[in-house]
Amino acid sequence: MKHFSGFPVSSGIAIGHAFLLKGEDFDIKRVSVSDKELEEQIEIFNKAVKKAERQLLVLKEKVKNEIGIDESTIFDAHILLLKDPNLIEKSIAKARDEHVSIDYAFSEVMNDLRAIFEKMSDQYLRERSNDIIDAGRRILRNYYGEKRETGIKGNNNDIIVIANNIAPSSMAELNKKKIKGIITEVGGATSHTAIMARSLDVPAIVGVSDILKEVRPDQLIILDGNKGEIIIDPDAETIKKYQTERRKYVNYVKSLDLLRNEEAITKDGKKIKLELNIEFVNEADFVNSYGADGIGLFRTEYLFMKSILPTEDEQFEIYRYISQVVYPKELVIRTADLGGDKFVSHFNLPQEMNPFLGFRGIRLCLEYKDFFKTQLKAILRASKLKNIKIMFPMISGLEELIEAKKILEEAKDELRETGVEFDEEIKVGIMVEVPAAALISDVLADEVDFFSIGTNDLIQYTLAVDRVNEKISYLYNPLHPAVLRFLKMIINNGHNKQIPVAMCGQMAGTPEYTMLLLGMDLDIFSVAPNNLLLIKKIISSVEYSKCKEIVSESIHNSDVASLKEYFEGYNHKMLKNVLYNYF
Ligand code: PEP
Ligand code: MG
Repeated sequence: MKHFSGFPVSSGIAIGHAFLLKGEDFDIKRVSVSDKELEEQIEIFNKAVKKAERQLLVLKEKVKNEIGIDESTIFDAHILLLKDPNLIEKSIAKARDEHVSIDYAFSEVMNDLRAIFEKMSDQYLRERSNDIIDAGRRILRNYYGEKRETGIKGNNNDIIVIANNIAPSSMAELNKKKIKGIITEVGGATSHTAIMARSLDVPAIVGVSDILKEVRPDQLIILDGNKGEIIIDPDAETIKKYQTERRKYVNYVKSLDLLRNEEAITKDGKKIKLELNIEFVNEADFVNSYGADGIGLFRTEYLFMKSILPTEDEQFEIYRYISQVVYPKELVIRTADLGGDKFVSHFNLPQEMNPFLGFRGIRLCLEYKDFFKTQLKAILRASKLKNIKIMFPMISGLEELIEAKKILEEAKDELRETGVEFDEEIKVGIMVEVPAAALISDVLADEVDFFSIGTNDLIQYTLAVDRVNEKISYLYNPLHPAVLRFLKMIINNGHNKQIPVAMCGQMAGTPEYTMLLLGMDLDIFSVAPNNLLLIKKIISSVEYSKCKEIVSESIHNSDVASLKEYFEGYNHKMLKNVLYNYF
């Protein structure tokens, strides 16, 4: 029995047999060839590229049907790569110049390209280096005339796929029905493995270094996707323990499922708006399937992660589609919050010392006005059903907000001039996520129709704690009195000006803080899809009056340790009652 741990990216518990998915390497030896030989090789190589293109189109359709449209678009990037002269033509030119075999020249060009991506500061783009390898391997396999194994052989119907990294195309080729869990040696929360595992609803753990060396095909594996724990070759007692755990977890998930068609109302009758944060188009369906009150945050950054920026029409189609799916519920579209750790590569900007304090969010949009206006026009054109709201990220002062609203007015004027209809009454709000904005929220409230508190950033900026730096994560404390004071201040300032206050940061989706936020009179909780039913359960299991009591007892306490103790005490009781002892 061996124990491993990693980063849990999709919840649930699986017990199954190991299926090892090993990748091929680009370790191709340098071989000199004659001109005649090379020309023959190039002919076969060109055919291999064409074949790869056809294969990718088929896979794209398959993934679109099985997983969703967002994931299928990754194959567009592969297809684009195959057409990139920097790759195919460069490889052919290199082979001719150096009189080396085409497979060797191609592998060298691929490795260079991969190295460029691996060095990128943007985590998402760094992880895309795997897409390059994936597309390259496909061409080489075609070139060598190899047949790829598809599906999973053997009799096991309970497979745990273990790989160094699972490329989207390998994932697409596997038999989904047999997969009970996924483990990879590399990858982060934004890796395709994580995204696909969540879409397939199977538990997954990534970042488990060197596990492939330790596990044999078909070995029994326990994967705890809630805690990030893996046990290879468990003994009978451990298997029994995890079978019980799995049963408990399944019951817990079922108990949450019962709430899908219920509203979020406290026991003493206070109705709370509970909405969703989404990043991908296909997540819009969760609004109906989870019984959410709308989308409180559509993070549009992922639309810009492609190699070519989406056009106004392409954006319009996406916004209109989501608005139709959720209608008559609301859809809050946040304008691009690029920068920080998200996809700035399109703008060719120099490296920054402090990207989170740098050229990010509304700052970037105000400078790249055409880019910003294109997005605003696409949103406005999609607003005919009148359920769309616009939200600006990273506002730090009044001038920025006025300037952003001015560009919005220009976008409206341009549409009017061409006779395009849109919602003339469209509501505009801001993320309150910069301490300066929190402090002047009384002034900003005069200029907007709603606030949405972005605690992920508000906490990092208030406490000067980088939200992605593991080393100081112990300081990232949502219960810090400075944070609590800010929250209360923003909510009060919004309410004094009669505007609703939402929260779309992770704090709103964390069960430990639900009662606190209810007691602070937060109007709208906007949470990630996998937290929605849990938060609904907590809201419907507690008394609003008790939440008010908790806030009045704690808000003036500035001793961090005793506050923590106080909250841990009531949280423990509350969570124990609500969650049937599961956690
Ligand atoms: C936040 O800062 O809390 C937020 C919701 O925005 P993001 O996580 O996208 O920065
Ligand atoms: Mg933010």
